[in-house]
Formats: sequence, C-alpha cells, structure tokens
Amino acid sequence: SPYPIRLSGPVQKGFGRGGKDLGCPTANLPDESIGAISSVAKTGVYYGYAQVVPPQDKHSDFKLEDLKVLPMVMSLGWNPFYKNKSLTAEIHIMHDFQTDFYGYEMKAVVLGYIRPELDYVSREALIEDINVDKEVALNCLQRPEYQKYAADAYFEHSE
Ligand code: ADP
Ligand code: MG
Repeated sequence: SPYPIRLSGPVQKGFGRGGKDLGCPTANLPDESIGAISSVAKTGVYYGYAQVVPPQDKHSDFKLEDLKVLPMVMSLGWNPFYKNKSLTAEIHIMHDFQTDFYGYEMKAVVLGYIRPELDYVSREALIEDINVDKEVALNCLQRPEYQKYAADAYFEHSE
C-alpha cells in the first residue's frame, strides 16, 4: 500500500470554481507539494487527515479547534490551466473555519482512495456525491488502525 502519503505546503488560490457556493471549499496545495502522490497518479477522491498551521502573526485569527488534526477529503485531478499536464490536489477539511487561510501551511496525511472523478449532469448530483464522499471518509477514519495517523508526528501537537 502506498499509504500513508504525507503532503504539505502553503495554501494557494484556486480558480474560485464555486467551492464555497457548493458548501465545499477546497484548499489547493502548490504543484511542488504534490510530488508524493504523483507516484500513485490515480485521479479521483481520497480521504485522510489535514491540519492548517497559521503563521505566527496570524495565530490569533484561529480558534483552538481550527488548529486540530481534522478529517478531510481530497480531490486529485488534472489541472486545465496547464493543459491537463499537471496534477492538482484540492483538500476540503471537514470543519467550519470562520476565516480563509490562503498562504497558511497545510499538512495532510492521505490514507485511502474513495472513487474516480466523474462528470456530473447537474450541480445537485455533484453536491450529492460530495456529501457521500464526506460520509465515506468519516466512516473509514473510524477504523482503529487509522486513529494513530491523527496523532502522526508529521502534524503539530500542543501539549
Ligand atoms: P479556491 O478556488 O481559491 O480554492 P474555494 O471556494 O475552493 O476557492 O475556497 C477555498 C479556500 O477556502 C481555502 O483556500 C481556504 O482558505 C478556505 N476554506 C475555508 N474553510 C475551508 C475548509 N473547511 N476546507 C478547505 N478550505 C477552506
Ligand atoms: Mg478550491
């Protein structure tokens, strides 16, 4: 198994393709940060854990819960901006952040694959599938053998 796959980098601006409208904002990792998953190179939706680490001067914008290791779903796809020659990794963290965190460091541990990318006939169908993905991810992460990854040394833990 290629898992766990650890990825990190500063959160980049995406194309604003309506993630927030869909109730599912996705934080983009920079190209240089997705090398570790390029070896798998299977496009689609993955699950795992993520953590956002604000810079020292932005620490006060974040609540204690925002700093935790949280469940996530990640979409890996071909980037149309680069004529589909480079992969893009977008992470939706299952947590209600009160603020954007562009530029902040994001760390992720990818633990498994949920499904391939699909074409959607409607916005409703897409939203429906995203909700299924989130449920699948939360159920998978219930497995006792995954709990240790939330405590992975890769993440930052306060005492
Ligand atoms: P973009 O096209 O810039 O990625 P999105 O609509 O996908 O725009 O919104 C993504 C941004 O929303 C992230 O970069 C982050 O700053 C913010 N954000 C707020 N809550 C979340 C969340 N739960 N998961 C991921 N990103 C979030
Ligand atoms: Mg996005």
